[in-house]
Amino acid sequence: MKEAKWIWNNNKFVLWKNATTHVMSHGLHYGTGVFEGIRAYNGSIFRMEDHYKRFFNSSKVAGIKIPFSRNKLESCTSQLLLKNKLKDCYIRPLAFVGDGSIGINPASNKINVIIAAFEWGTYLGEKAMSKGIKMKISSFKRMSVNSFMTKSKICGNYINSVLAKKEALDQGYDEALLLDDNGYVSEGTGENIFIIKNGKIKTTPVTSILEGITRDCVFRIAEDNNISIKESKFTRDELYIADEIFLSGTAAEITPVREVDNRKIGTGKPGPITKLIQKEYSNIVLGKNPNYNNWLHPISN
Ligand code: PMP
Repeated sequence: MKEAKWIWNNNKFVLWKNATTHVMSHGLHYGTGVFEGIRAYNGSIFRMEDHYKRFFNSSKVAGIKIPFSRNKLESCTSQLLLKNKLKDCYIRPLAFVGDGSIGINPASNKINVIIAAFEWGTYLGEKAMSKGIKMKISSFKRMSVNSFMTKSKICGNYINSVLAKKEALDQGYDEALLLDDNGYVSEGTGENIFIIKNGKIKTTPVTSILEGITRDCVFRIAEDNNISIKESKFTRDELYIADEIFLSGTAAEITPVREVDNRKIGTGKPGPITKLIQKEYSNIVLGKNPNYNNWLHPISN
C-alpha cells in the first residue's frame, strides 16, 4: 500500500496523516462499522455503483445509518481520485460508529464515513497470478449465518478471516479456505471460490459467503463464453480432485489455485478455463472489451 495525499473524511478532504479518530470510537472497540473494497483501473472505477449498493446493504444489515447518499459518496470518490491523481488504485470506503457511549449499544454515537484511495498492487503477488497459490483448509469455520451476517461487510466479521489467514500463512500456505457450519466449502478469507471439473464451473451458493461482485463478473464471463457455470454445494474432497480451482475478489482479482492441503490441483498449473476467465477479467477492467463498458465508471468531476 502506498500512502496518498488526501483522504475524504466526513465530507472534507484532509491530509492522510490528519485522518485520525478518537481512541474511544465504538467501531474500534466492537467492530461496529461497514466497509467496501473497490478498484480503479486505467482511469475508470470498476463497478462503483454495485460496490456502493453493497455498502448501503451492509449498513442496512448492520443497522448503521450512513449519513450521506449513495450519489454523494460516488461523486466524492471520483473527486478523491482526481485530487490524489490516482488512475489505478484501491478504494476503501468505511462507515463506523464514533465515540460517545462505550456500552455495547451504539446509541446515538455519530456515524463517521471516510473514503481512502491508494496504490495497491496485486493482492496475493505476481507469482500467485501466473503460477497459482497454495491453500489450506482452515481449522476455523466460516462464521455461522445466524451469528454473523455474511452478506454484509461488517468490520467485526473480519476477525474470522484474520484468524484463518494468519493460521494459513504461519503454516506456509498462501491463503486459507474456510468450510461452512455444515462442512461444505464456503470461501477464502477475502475471495469466493470456483472449481472446474470436465469443463464445467461450480461455485458455492450464496448462503454462507459474501456475494462477491467479481463472482458476478465470473458468471457473466462464463456465460458469454459458453462455459457451463452453476451454484452448488461441494465438499473438501471435490476440491482435491477438481481439474482447476480459482478464487475471485476485488483485491485478489482472478487468482489460480495450484494446491489444496498439499494436493496438486489438476496439472499443478493454472488450467485453460482459469486462464481464459483471468484474461477476460483483466481485459474488461482495463476497458479492452467494449461489451462490458457499462461496468466502468470513468473518473470525472
Ligand atoms: N468474500 C469475502 C469474505 C470478501 O471479503 C470478499 C472481498 N470483498 C469477497 C468474498 C469477494 O468479493 P468482491 O468480489 O466483491 O470483492
